[in-house]
Amino acid sequence: MRVLIGGGSGFVGRELTRLLREKGHEVTLISRQPGPGRITWGELESGGLPPCEGAVNLAGENLMNPLRWWNESYKKDLFSSRIDTTKTLAQAIAASPSPPHSWVLVSGVGCYKPSLTAEYTEDSELTPFDLFSNLVKEWEASALLPENVAKNTKQVVVRSGIVLGRDGGAMKQMLLPFWLGLGGTLGSGRQPFPWIHVSDLAGIIAHGLEPPADSPSPVPHVFNGVAPALNTNYEFTKELGQVLRRPTIFPVPVFVLNALMGSERAVVLTQGQKVIPKRTLEAGFQYKYPDLTSALKEIVGN
Ligand code: NDP
Repeated sequence: MRVLIGGGSGFVGRELTRLLREKGHEVTLISRQPGPGRITWGELESGGLPPCEGAVNLAGENLMNPLRWWNESYKKDLFSSRIDTTKTLAQAIAASPSPPHSWVLVSGVGCYKPSLTAEYTEDSELTPFDLFSNLVKEWEASALLPENVAKNTKQVVVRSGIVLGRDGGAMKQMLLPFWLGLGGTLGSGRQPFPWIHVSDLAGIIAHGLEPPADSPSPVPHVFNGVAPALNTNYEFTKELGQVLRRPTIFPVPVFVLNALMGSERAVVLTQGQKVIPKRTLEAGFQYKYPDLTSALKEIVGN
């Protein structure tokens, strides 16, 4: 199968590309930068969708960009980098004389309201309540295909938790302080920490790219892209300390995170959601890293 991946040069995209190529598929990236094996977003708009059987969008300004101060311009970029690219790709699919059989968007679990007790599945009601939930709503809406196209193209949305892996994402920023023995719980540590190993997220996306068994449904198939283990930030912190054999005795107070990151953004770390991958499990997806110990051992090395 030929697969087109928007934002495929990033952390998740590199893992997905590796997995798809290993399975014998052909991958073309859509990027802001031209280069071999890539087309640019401008080329997609002007030249239309290149022939492909699967399409994915992973593009988006990094939410944890340490080089950017939390302000209106950053928020605008978070929205436009996700929504405009998704819309561009969805429109190219809709306009194509031979659209792909599968179209996968990776969004986030920020659509579920943080809570210490509520448990969310893909069937949970969604009512936007803050910046990130509004972002996810607009982002997923921008992926929707017109009804006549959706008859032939399976639409999939994977709502990802915090992606853990060796080569990027949250771990890249956390490993050094933890190695130095400066790691600790964030706030009370009681908040849920919805996470997934990057290799499993790539696997769920690849699963979503498989040709539909029946004629596609007009509404997207939603899968929660989280590990089945429900962990708190405290459990994550202790497990990472244990795997690294480092103490984790310095909790980071919420007010420090709010001051450093902006309180609107810090909620991603200071609060969390218990997310259950109900449909992902029902679809028969086999996790390589269902629990924190196995995931962190793979990432940090034994
Ligand atoms: P990355 O931060 O690695 O970015 C992915 C790609 O997006 C980049 O390689 C870049 O491609 C493109 N990009 C970056 N900034 C912009 C911009 N301003 N405008 C257009 N394109 C841009 O993301 P991940 O691989 O970590 O995540 C993939 C997707 O999954 C993202 O949409 C993210 O929001 C979502 N997600 C990720 C989570 C995580 O923990 N990593 C958690 C939940 C959701 P290029 O330079 O080639 O244009």
